Amino acid sequence: MSSPQRPKHVVLFGRPGSGKSSIAERLSQDHGFFLFRTGELLREAVRRGDPLGLQVEATLKSGRLVSDALIEKVLEQSLSTPGDRRLLFDGFPRTIGQVPMLAKFEKSLGFRVDCYLDIAVSHAAAVTRMTGRRVCPVCGATYHLVNHPPKVAETCDVDGAKLEQRRDDSPAVIEVRQRIYAETSSPILAYYRTHLPQLFRVVDGERGFDEVYAATCVALGLPEPS
Ligand code: AMP
Repeated sequence: MSSPQRPKHVVLFGRPGSGKSSIAERLSQDHGFFLFRTGELLREAVRRGDPLGLQVEATLKSGRLVSDALIEKVLEQSLSTPGDRRLLFDGFPRTIGQVPMLAKFEKSLGFRVDCYLDIAVSHAAAVTRMTGRRVCPVCGATYHLVNHPPKVAETCDVDGAKLEQRRDDSPAVIEVRQRIYAETSSPILAYYRTHLPQLFRVVDGERGFDEVYAATCVALGLPEPS
């Protein structure tokens, strides 16, 4: 069977706890994707305490989504012409209102997403995973105590910082984020599945990290990890 054509720019979907961010990081390391992560850009703004950070801090803590208008501003400030880079969007588009926003930026910046990939995981599996998630407060790298542990316990492989649990990974907030994902993502996935079926792919995310990563590489037409 021939492998699918290798995409250049990718949008990754997956409910909170699907392992999407770890997959995105590995794709970036192995295949040179430039990661465009709206959640990380917002958390950075909170860490810096700048006006955007102050505006979104409470929303991030609550697990709700920030407004489409604010996301558009973040894109305007942070997304530039990719040139030779391969872009990987992690966390955007997140609402049906952000779908035309992506199309607008594709046009104005001169690139074209050629794969929309959903890492499919059930609600129950995602909740279990989220309680074990740890992140680096310095570089934002994502780990999991069981599925994707750092080489040294509780320590970032990249910069040696002590890992933390995200505030929005508390049980009550996890449930809010799952509910919001279910409500907002279904129309987006349905949109791409219907309008761009040739670019839409699904990977079963309910396996160990290495298997899901290998399946993602296959779905993207990339060489499988050795
Ligand atoms: P993430 O790291 O992608 O899970 O995002 C963390 C939080 O940032 C989310 O719970 C939202 O509050 C906010 N966020 C990130 N991306 C978006 C987006 N595209 N639209 C709205 N809110 C977002």
